[in-house]
Amino acid sequence: MANSPKDIIRDDIRALAAYHVQDAAGMVKLDAMENPYPLPPALAAEVAALVASAPVNRYPDPRSPALKARLREAMQIPAGMDIVLGNGSDELIQMLALAVAKPGAAILGVEPSFVMFRMIATFCGLRYVGVPLKADFSLDTEAVLAAMAHEQPALTFLAYPNNPTGNLFDAEALERVVAAAPGLVVVDEAYTAFASRSFLPALATYPHLLIMRTLSKLGLAGLRLGLLAGRAEWTQELEKVRLPYNVNVLTQLVAEKVLSQAPALAAQARTLVAERARLTASLATMPGVTVFPSDANFLLFRVPQAKRVFEGLKARRVLIKNLDGAHPLLADCLRVTVGTPQENDAFTGALRQTLTESNGN
Ligand code: PMP
Repeated sequence: MANSPKDIIRDDIRALAAYHVQDAAGMVKLDAMENPYPLPPALAAEVAALVASAPVNRYPDPRSPALKARLREAMQIPAGMDIVLGNGSDELIQMLALAVAKPGAAILGVEPSFVMFRMIATFCGLRYVGVPLKADFSLDTEAVLAAMAHEQPALTFLAYPNNPTGNLFDAEALERVVAAAPGLVVVDEAYTAFASRSFLPALATYPHLLIMRTLSKLGLAGLRLGLLAGRAEWTQELEKVRLPYNVNVLTQLVAEKVLSQAPALAAQARTLVAERARLTASLATMPGVTVFPSDANFLLFRVPQAKRVFEGLKARRVLIKNLDGAHPLLADCLRVTVGTPQENDAFTGALRQTLTESNGN
């Protein structure tokens, strides 16, 4: 009978490996670019009261007007631009891919970058064109322009700052690529709270540009809320593939409340940026370690024998991300999220010990 997964599930889905989430029980958790700080106690009490009286027996308001207004203000979305909300920016990537998935259509991205761009392209039956970055992780502008001309992607994703490399692309290079893109371009600003530049002002210039943001790196990863900002001619089409109740009642209420405390969020981001500088300086003093510049809340660094170092850290109860093998440009690279000062000290202490051990000293 033709009813086994092999018969029923698409070959390209069966060939995929599921997005891997590491077990972090009992670990100093520096693997997933989360904000290490809980809600300030007074705010947590307000959130608790809101949750207690939340109308969870009702479907959420699919238009989320109060939350959208708060997001516009907090993210300084230019007047005249519309926004679409997603259950995390992951869901927005999926909505975009679904909406452009004509037979033969392609998504273009750079590599290495956020892995869900490629995975979601596959889910939706799209071709994915990954153009390698240069060895210093800068945009290979000529290669991207050539690939765009050749492949005519319906959709291009560029993460700014990029994950997992942490860098901001050169602004002029990014603008050349956006200007030349044949389809829709999404500049993914997931890490904008920690970055020295944003591409948001370019919305006014490029009608085929959308800017994507998320609350995940601001301390609300567990709530799942992302947004896309751009012209209504695009957002009204994307609204058609959005599941009507994708942003639940609790997320709407809590996100709106937390965003009303924007200065507290901004202060946390400033602390993390200062910690990033301290962590960068510390890594730079370690023999054999190369640390790359970052505008995000994580650092990419290269060590001799990344797998051994990763395992050595894990044995010391520090969990980061091993990127060795993920892409040729990431050979022997590890990625660490910037945590609290104590977590960062635990990480650097464990790294020093591990490096000494793997040098055979
Ligand atoms: N974009 C980039 C560049 C990311 O690194 C991530 C998370 N790792 C996301 C989007 C997804 O974020 P979320 O779904 O939590 O909003």
